[in-house]
Amino acid sequence: MFEATIAGSLPKPGWLSETNKLWPQWKQEGADLVAAKKDATLLWIKAQEDAGLDIVTDGEQSRQHFVHGFLEYVEGIDFDHKVKMGIRNNRYDAMVPKVIGPLKLKGRVHETEARLARAHTKKKLKITMPGPMTIVDTVADAYYGDKVKMAMAFAELLNQEARALEKDGVDIIQFDEPAFNVYMEDVRTWGVAALEKAIEGLTVTTAVHICYGYGIKANDDWKLTLGDRWDQYALTFPVLAKSSIKQVSLECYHSHVAPDLMKLLEGKDVMVGVIDVASDVIETPEQVADTIGEALKFVPKNRLFPCTNCGMAPMDREIAIKKLEALAAGAAIARERYK
Ligand code: ZN
Repeated sequence: MFEATIAGSLPKPGWLSETNKLWPQWKQEGADLVAAKKDATLLWIKAQEDAGLDIVTDGEQSRQHFVHGFLEYVEGIDFDHKVKMGIRNNRYDAMVPKVIGPLKLKGRVHETEARLARAHTKKKLKITMPGPMTIVDTVADAYYGDKVKMAMAFAELLNQEARALEKDGVDIIQFDEPAFNVYMEDVRTWGVAALEKAIEGLTVTTAVHICYGYGIKANDDWKLTLGDRWDQYALTFPVLAKSSIKQVSLECYHSHVAPDLMKLLEGKDVMVGVIDVASDVIETPEQVADTIGEALKFVPKNRLFPCTNCGMAPMDREIAIKKLEALAAGAAIARERYK
């Protein structure tokens, strides 16, 4: 009960890349970079185990950014002539690569880190990938001329990699779809359909993470415009409840998400965000247990997974570790308190 996990990403050590950045520059190259990524992956597996988490990830140490890290392995994408594009409905500008031809995987994307992590932990292992709608929102299209067509093409590639990850021994495959909180109508008309295509034929546990973004200023400013009750999930959750996705990861603690919205996820495992990644204040285990208690009013015990609100990539490493410890300790208190 209350198996603790994280949304996915963790801070990169200073010897691997720049720190506290969403698009950090690598500090190594060639074979040194490959080795450094592996070292960082192992370091975080150990840190997550030491903190007491039940489901661990590779910490996304091998990718520069959660979307572009995948795109680097896709043929038909031009990284040499990036363009500035407003993403998440123009919430902020990003330098994004361009789709210039038919999309095809160059080879395996996450094989190295997935197999390495699998070989070094007996805990359940989760690997995350960007969802099709979020990819389409983080790349410039100079080829398809049709968002949905392009999303479906990406979904096919995601599915190909997901099937291979399943063979690598991964237990949970999660797709990150922050765009699901932005393009509400598109979620209903094609977003979930694209996600279904990405998980087609998988037998491992599948998950989707939908959040209000990393703890960066553009997101903090946007949240201030959303009012006192964030109702975006009210539109998405009923569509997801009917989908074949097994788990949904959502933002909760310190947000204006009304906890009763979790009721709309009947039948799904719910990864409840009990750790705020937009604040450096460390939650106490009691606070974590209290948030779990709130969520329990709307989610059955056996379907509740305490989690972080979002990824921790841009955070300070020491703070992230303390937050992982609070997460696991809070889950332990909740196990006693709500048994
Ligand atoms: Zn997130």
